[in-house]
Amino acid sequence: MATRRLYYDDAFETEFTARVISSEPALIPSFPVAQAPAWEVVLDRTAFYPASGGQPHDLGKLGDANVVDVRDAEDGILHIVDRPVKLGEVKGCINWPRRFDHMQQHTGQHLLSAMFQERFGLSTVSFHLGSEICTIDLRGPEPAEEILEGAERAANQVVFEDRPVNVRYGTADQLSQLGVRKEVERDGILRAIEIESADLQPCGGTHVKRTGQIGLVLLRRCTKVRQDWRVEFVCGRRSERFARHDFQVLRQTAEKLRCAPEDLVSAASRMLAERDTNFKSFHAVTQRLAESEATLAFETTPLEANGFRVVSRVFEGVPADYLGFFATAFAKSEKAIALLAAAEGGNLLFAQHPSAGKDMSALLKQVLEKVGGKGGGTQDFARGRLIERSHAEKAVLLARELLPGS
Ligand SMILES: [Zn+2]
Repeated sequence: MATRRLYYDDAFETEFTARVISSEPALIPSFPVAQAPAWEVVLDRTAFYPASGGQPHDLGKLGDANVVDVRDAEDGILHIVDRPVKLGEVKGCINWPRRFDHMQQHTGQHLLSAMFQERFGLSTVSFHLGSEICTIDLRGPEPAEEILEGAERAANQVVFEDRPVNVRYGTADQLSQLGVRKEVERDGILRAIEIESADLQPCGGTHVKRTGQIGLVLLRRCTKVRQDWRVEFVCGRRSERFARHDFQVLRQTAEKLRCAPEDLVSAASRMLAERDTNFKSFHAVTQRLAESEATLAFETTPLEANGFRVVSRVFEGVPADYLGFFATAFAKSEKAIALLAAAEGGNLLFAQHPSAGKDMSALLKQVLEKVGGKGGGTQDFARGRLIERSHAEKAVLLARELLPGS
């Protein structure tokens, strides 16, 4: 027996009484949480909306039982509840804030889709009413910023005019003659939602009575999804929440940047430009410092009997670049070899003047095999990174020991 859907006639009915036709343990062990007991209840009539047509299901109570899911099944609407419900009469009560939110989003979606279609020729190919954000997928060329703003403004104009939202019934042909937005090929009497002088759309969902109840329609991002354009939006209470959250983010960011929220873009651009300038001078200073330290090291490192000059050192508090600058400066002299590490990053750098005739890449490989890490390079210049940063000292000592002929 089909359950009578009270929400078809009155989407504002929140409490109702019904007869329990069946109440059985549910054969869905994974719902709502693994192994939680659940029962399936079928009623003769219900105000509970089952998940369908893109609109999420209702929550609420059947007697003392919590309704955790509502599904459309062949033999009626299934109410999934968390405890048994006795046969006979039962009182039902739906979670109204949740349902009304769905109604605001759903009617808002019809309106927004109609505006994109009517004003800009962009048809909606699918939509989704999420728990946070809602989306419609538009087909056609990429909607420019002015189109998104235009559709939003047009939708809100209809909201402000507080037009009636009516439920219409008719055959596919009759609806077609009335100028339905999306033609459907189905027999029998169809249900359609009409936003007066704006839209007519076949739909089995729940809707507000007047467009004013949708509240503000707020568009968010537009991104490409496969061949279509996904437009995010929120309506009603959600718009209020999103706008409040956006403002908080702006205010907190402005406080951090010490400017007014309206000056954020220029303040951020200025700071990014400053950061780039600072980075360039930091880089230049690092190079100069590394080069002079290398010169000093070269002068203070004794020349070995075989003509080599080897510096081995672990640096602290320097960026990885520093090793490169130091090594390049040090190893530009004949037979000079630099075996370096940066403590914080666990970076290694082995370099030589070609006249030294060793193999830095092979040396690095030998060291990394023993202490653990990754790296590579050429015969004269090899870089690596340790898995354990604390092994920097050990790695440099090891390189010194393994350096052939020294
Ligand atoms: Zn709909």
